[in-house]
Amino acid sequence: MQTTFLPKLYNWIDPIFWLYFPKNCPACGRPLRLFGANICGRCSQNLPETHFFEAPGNPIEKIFYGRLTIGAGAAAWYFHKNSALQALLFQLKYKSNKEVGLFIGKQMGSLLAASERFASIDGLVPVPLHAQALSKRGFNQAALICEGISQVWHKPVYTEAIVRNKRTNTQTKQSRAERWDNMENAFTIKDPASITGKHILLIDDVITTGATIEACGKTLLTVEGARVSVAAAAYPLK
Ligand SMILES: [Zn+2]
Repeated sequence: MQTTFLPKLYNWIDPIFWLYFPKNCPACGRPLRLFGANICGRCSQNLPETHFFEAPGNPIEKIFYGRLTIGAGAAAWYFHKNSALQALLFQLKYKSNKEVGLFIGKQMGSLLAASERFASIDGLVPVPLHAQALSKRGFNQAALICEGISQVWHKPVYTEAIVRNKRTNTQTKQSRAERWDNMENAFTIKDPASITGKHILLIDDVITTGATIEACGKTLLTVEGARVSVAAAAYPLK
């Protein structure tokens, strides 16, 4: 009798616990009123969507003109200073708030699932972190976003396909040539069989100069029959 009673008890306890100890919205800090919510309604509505998933020739694609051959490119939201999105990305990257990563991924998954331009994607590859950075942070934020995407848009994630060899520094104040010197040979294919002949969607949290994606994408394109498209959560407005 207890075994049937216990799950019911937990179903009751969770919302009651929530009532007394509500979580705060990771973007604005206000208490979340909706049980199980990741972000408050106001912040969720205020995320400035780019609509790039539907727009060929968008600014993300232009970043890679003449640098990396991509099928399609997009970022989900514009990134402003002091915005809800900046707060979310800060929570994800520096406060290890994994729920935020999954939330961002799920939102991107809905956008991708609705976009015909990304319909031929076979699977996702998160831009890898260097092993040292990974052990310091404990997780790869791009991999977490991929996990969220695949929960909504059911595509496999090839986390082991490519590795990062060196810690790189892609400062915006560097020239493009300097950044490229820095990034050359930064990545190595580890499991070519998993992505041979596949159309890969390369995922990162933010695309700024594009140097990391360019280097990672070029390495992926060395695999026989591989094609690359690109998507990120945020596109910073300059
Ligand atoms: Zn909020």
